[in-house]
Amino acid sequence: MKHLSLKQAIAATFFSVTLLLPAFGHAAETELKTDVVVVGGGAAGLSAAVSAAQHGAKVILLEKESTLGGAARYAEGLFAVETDELRKKASPLTKDYAFKQAMEFNHWEADAALVRTVIDESPKTIAWLDTLGLSFNPTSISPDEPPTWHLVQDYKGIHHGAALIACLKDHADELGVKIMLSTPALDLIQNNGKIEGVHAKDKDGNTYAIYGKAVILGSGGFPASREMIAKYTRFDPSRVFATAPFHKNGDGINMAITAGAETDGHMGLMMHPGAVGKGVMPLASLFSMSWQPILWVNKYGDRFADEGKAYDFALAGNAIYGQRDSIAWAIWDETVQKYEIETGIDNGVGVLVPIGTKLTSLPAEEAKAIAKGSDVYFEADTVAELAKKIGADPAKLEATIASYNQIQAKGHDDAFAKDVRYAVPVKNGKLHALRLVPMYFTSIGGVKVDTNFRALSGKDQVIPSLYIAGSDLGGNFGDTYTLWTSGYAFGLAATSGRITGAEAAEYVKTAK
Ligand SMILES: Cc1cc2nc3c(=O)[nH]c(=O)nc-3n(C[C@H](O)[C@H](O)[C@H](O)COP(=O)(O)OP(=O)(O)OC[C@H]3O[C@@H](n4cnc5c(N)ncnc54)[C@H](O)[C@@H]3O)c2cc1C
Repeated sequence: MKHLSLKQAIAATFFSVTLLLPAFGHAAETELKTDVVVVGGGAAGLSAAVSAAQHGAKVILLEKESTLGGAARYAEGLFAVETDELRKKASPLTKDYAFKQAMEFNHWEADAALVRTVIDESPKTIAWLDTLGLSFNPTSISPDEPPTWHLVQDYKGIHHGAALIACLKDHADELGVKIMLSTPALDLIQNNGKIEGVHAKDKDGNTYAIYGKAVILGSGGFPASREMIAKYTRFDPSRVFATAPFHKNGDGINMAITAGAETDGHMGLMMHPGAVGKGVMPLASLFSMSWQPILWVNKYGDRFADEGKAYDFALAGNAIYGQRDSIAWAIWDETVQKYEIETGIDNGVGVLVPIGTKLTSLPAEEAKAIAKGSDVYFEADTVAELAKKIGADPAKLEATIASYNQIQAKGHDDAFAKDVRYAVPVKNGKLHALRLVPMYFTSIGGVKVDTNFRALSGKDQVIPSLYIAGSDLGGNFGDTYTLWTSGYAFGLAATSGRITGAEAAEYVKTAK
């Protein structure tokens, strides 16, 4: 970096700053110095910043958006086992068992030492967050999964993930972390293979060279980058829909790659079923129908799955994605409609739309969708008419529904062994069809690291002073997100943030 230099004093106690005057009309670049630079103000970045500051480091945290929190604002629970909270519930779950389950699910494609670290460290993360003033209620994300999902309890009247962010922000402020909003990191400052900080630019066009002895990248993965989805995952970006992409374009991962880091071979998406289109609002009643274990057919009118997999959203998303053109339809009749309205849903959309929620606004939303000429929600009086509307072969759909309607009477689903409780016949009154699409909560996989979350080069060499946290991390998954360890992504963010913060703070004490 070549600068025209003109030193200016800077007010902040911790930070020394050099303001570089414009040269030939270029914008000024401000130079800041600190111990640890954190990129990203979500669960991973804020955990890292607080942890580093608790270990005595001066910290500057950069956040691209005008508010902190990233996807973590919408998350609900963190994975952990052997916590005090679980012990109080007499949970028999152990770290060993969770580790074995996670690795089996991942076909041992994940980095075993890293997964072991994340699982072993998980109770310490919950205990650490407890000391910061948060509390947790571990629960099961679905009837198929164990209660590893530690739901964040309210903090100052704020719920779930947003509560965690608010609490960490309070501590960051108290500890003197300098938070720069609307100031994305652009690239790493490198010197002879060493990472010495980042360049950044704020919303007014002011540029910064922020020097630190360690950099922690926690930019939340690549859910908004269609290019990276196409390049690194098995998914066609034109057929998948992001739940909350914000502007997370893989900045951290790409910066690490530029510094010589390698990515792991298992980058993918945390899939879930969903519905997108005219008349469908996220988390409203019609959307919630996309998570129910009711009849699903593909574009041909064939069943293709045990719809009970709705309880394991990642697997359900995979199944829908795998259909021709990734097209599927949820189909129900008036009996199911009445059940969802009067008894309430069998499968929650997380805890934002909990199990048992009565979808009282379903008829109004349906009417609105029809009035808007929705192409993702249809109603019909006969199967043939519905088939025509959804573009399926009428004879095929008739046969599929006739066969499905036999399941409960027979006591068995010969096709996909679905739990017969959920195979409610589709035969009463008006028929409804909602188009299902494969959606994803976030990207999974990223930069290869060691068990201290230090970035590794293609030769498995540690890249000095570069740490990775949260969704920028590789090595934790196989091809699919693991629901058995429910809350793993959010837990991973907090655990890797806590550890990288501490590690980076210790590193800067000895770094030359
Ligand atoms: C609706 C929803 C619900 C979810 N529920 C759960 C759950 O219950 N349990 C679970 O395990 N997971 C859940 N997840 C996933 C979970 O939110 C993420 O795994 C977690 O937030 C990852 O933390 P992170 O810090 O890596 O990323 P984020 O929390 O997304 O934070 C990354 C931050 O980096 C910022 N950033 C990006 N680029 C730059 C840059 N160049 N410079 C500076 N800042 C940058 C972003 O703006 C963002 O604020 C959910 C996700 C969604 C969308």
